[in-house]
Amino acid sequence: MRHLPLFAQLRGRACLIVGGGHVAERRARLLLEAGARPTLVASEFSAGVEALAAAEPTVTLVRAPFTDDLVERFWLVVAATNDSEVNARVAAAAERAQRFCNVVDDAERSTFIMPAIVDRDPVTIAISSAGLSPVIARHVKGLIESLVPSRIGALARLAGRWRARVRGALPDADVRRHFWEEVVAGPVAAHCEAGRDEAAEKALVRMLDEAARGASHGAPRGVAWLVGAGPGNPDLITLRGRQLLAAADVVLYDRLGAPELLRFARRDAELIPVGKAPNRPTTHQEEINRLLVELVAAGKRVCRLKGGDPMVFGRAGEELDALVEAGLPFEVVPGVSAVEGCAAFAGIPLTLRNVSRALLITTGHDDNDASSDLASFKPGQTLAIYMGVAKYPRIAADLIRLGHSPETPATIVERGTTDAQRVIVTTLGRLPEATERYGVAPPALLIVGETARLAARFAWFQPSTVEIDDASPAAQRARVS
Ligand code: SAH
Repeated sequence: MRHLPLFAQLRGRACLIVGGGHVAERRARLLLEAGARPTLVASEFSAGVEALAAAEPTVTLVRAPFTDDLVERFWLVVAATNDSEVNARVAAAAERAQRFCNVVDDAERSTFIMPAIVDRDPVTIAISSAGLSPVIARHVKGLIESLVPSRIGALARLAGRWRARVRGALPDADVRRHFWEEVVAGPVAAHCEAGRDEAAEKALVRMLDEAARGASHGAPRGVAWLVGAGPGNPDLITLRGRQLLAAADVVLYDRLGAPELLRFARRDAELIPVGKAPNRPTTHQEEINRLLVELVAAGKRVCRLKGGDPMVFGRAGEELDALVEAGLPFEVVPGVSAVEGCAAFAGIPLTLRNVSRALLITTGHDDNDASSDLASFKPGQTLAIYMGVAKYPRIAADLIRLGHSPETPATIVERGTTDAQRVIVTTLGRLPEATERYGVAPPALLIVGETARLAARFAWFQPSTVEIDDASPAAQRARVS
């Protein structure tokens, strides 16, 4: 270990920054965040530093050259000039006075270095590469940022408020540790992370009451997390989704989300496939509902990982209904739905000024007459059709019968957002032929309307194949107007 990590209490303490430019300003702002009182010494100050001093009464500006005796009055010293000789003098003076000194961009001369910081106040994580590679430190910071729930600070504050009372109520150290472990891993933390601070505090009070009465906590209370996995590209899950996936005891997943996502589950988590695929043995929805309720009721934290967004053709309503009926808690985490993913990765604006001002999302799968939905689609709108590749000929015929021109652009996005993405730009009139010619297979999404042709113009996703149905002149005119 090249440096000992320390967390310094600088509230109200005077710190010296030698320098008056934007590097000095950044250091001053950081010290202010920790409540320190920075004094900046320089012969001139940038407008930013002047503005900071005007806004923050605890900032002092001293317009003078640096002299060695200055360091004596300060807890910490930062050398932040762009003159390496001055910086070296500051470091030498600090060394003699035994003050810790940071020389900006000079780990050799520094007696302390500034870490990269993940700030979830009061939880603070400091990362250092011992000054060898700030880029690596920042990269690690990014990794940690995505792992630590953004509201962990709320949980730490709650724990801080109750610490003394818990010590009083649970004098036995082992009992107390067990209690806090349950707080951090159980429903109190789940409430906090979901922003339900009041419910978190209530749950804590209830647990403390039980623990104090010597009652066993019994099985921890289960919870269902309905998490949108996105349309197939593993990078498109939300941070919250990944955190819950990593916390789950059991993961129920279907076939549409990226299989790579399962790597984020705990190594000892139980992974149960409950895929529904056309023309294959499937787990019936009732069975999934029953399994979900059974697991949560048994105290499991279940991540129900669903392709796309759970609330869009995801049967989330039925699963939530079963959970509500059984009186079990849940949280829903949105995902990138197929229409958003496909539109972005195929380069199709779903709305466009003066071209399309509404988006109609429907399905071609329903055995009932879908044409009643199609009837509400009007020129000047975009139509997105989930499922039902086999119904494309009928959908095209219905739309043409409803008065839409056979020249209306229609684009199929197959396995959108994945490396196997294929985009077929055609028109309503040629849709049946194009579907057959290119052998379109699910999962695919059909986008109809003037903006659908822009897939030819805005194609950007490199692994994707773009097929422009050449017999279709309208599809070729890849222009807004
Ligand atoms: N809840 C999901 C939809 C599930 S229904 C969501 O929000 O996206 C399944 C249908 O979604 C598929 O038949 C297909 O029409 C569409 N779909 C899902 N993933 C897709 C993908 N990667 N590319 C194209 N369409 C996709």
